[in-house]
Amino acid sequence: MSEPNDWLRPEIAALAPYQVADARGLIKLDAMENPHAFPEHLLDRWLESLRAVELNRYPAADAPELKAALRRVNGLGHDVGILLGNGSDEILQMLMLALAKPGACVLTPEPGFAMFRLISRATGLGYHPVPLGPDFQLDLNAMLAAIEVQQPALVLIAQPNNPTGNAFDTADLRAVVKAAPGLVVIDEAYYPFAEQHCLDWLGEYDNLLVMRTLSKLGLASLRLGWLMGPKRWLDALEPLRLPYNINGLTQASASFALSHYDDFMAQAAMIREQRARMADALAAMPGVEVFPSQANFLLVRFDGVDPADVHAALKEAGILVKNLSAAHPDLSGCLRLTVGTAAENASLISALRDILQG
Ligand SMILES: *Cc1c(COP(=O)(O)O)cnc(C)c1O
Repeated sequence: MSEPNDWLRPEIAALAPYQVADARGLIKLDAMENPHAFPEHLLDRWLESLRAVELNRYPAADAPELKAALRRVNGLGHDVGILLGNGSDEILQMLMLALAKPGACVLTPEPGFAMFRLISRATGLGYHPVPLGPDFQLDLNAMLAAIEVQQPALVLIAQPNNPTGNAFDTADLRAVVKAAPGLVVIDEAYYPFAEQHCLDWLGEYDNLLVMRTLSKLGLASLRLGWLMGPKRWLDALEPLRLPYNINGLTQASASFALSHYDDFMAQAAMIREQRARMADALAAMPGVEVFPSQANFLLVRFDGVDPADVHAALKEAGILVKNLSAAHPDLSGCLRLTVGTAAENASLISALRDILQG
């Protein structure tokens, strides 16, 4: 019998697959999806646009229409290059494969995005987490010291951060970009919900790349992420993109959606408004601490009650959220609540009141 572990790279053998909870029949507030359906008034025109997709042919290899649409909505100049990924996860994988020289490492603040660790392990890169400071802000001195010692090939920072939800101080981010000897990727997955972004820094630094995705904007099922930055970097990474990685249905659907970008940003605005209401309602509950968020979720800490019990009781009440209390020492007592529709959030708040009073 062939034993997988005799042949697998040891770092692969040590990996566990990314776990996705079964959400059937539950109000789904665990994965930062946009709770709103595709805009009703666009549905027929979107479906009509799919008629033109020839499923017997390979899709456009370079996705020129889609890239043009991304250039338009992001306001990109022609000196900025774009790399497309099947979700930003795939972009992270391409980046890390490209940089995984022997001894090379990724440096990133923690608590942070779980995929940063998983993909760096899978690609054989070293992984150096740097603990966040007070208020989940960057500990700038610790970051700069670690950069100095580790000389990371790649610094990864999600802005706003997942799972903490806050945005980092932009002066700190600039200091990190300046100090980093290699690439810095700022992951702006939550840009539709944030008050600031770093896209207009692109002309200023030759080692900065900004990554975005459609996943949090109501189009998670399409799996489309894109990386922006200096052309020479994007050209160097392009050979790692497998041919046709963006399928024809995604190219057509994303191009269509981006030509109606305002409708999706309007959904994001509703989510931001709901986030504020939800934060107020949660903050009014005794024993609940709500952390400031510029994303489409709220991190909350429970005092005097086991978050695993709250998580289980919410599930019993038909609501799925994410228990992060064991994910990182700084997250003990914490659940992450994705902002849903007004009705979903009302169900969550009322269920939580019952649970905490019970
Ligand atoms: C949700 C999320 C993404 C999205 O990944 P996709 O593969 O594009 O769906 C990327 N980065 C962070 C930090 C996220 O939280």
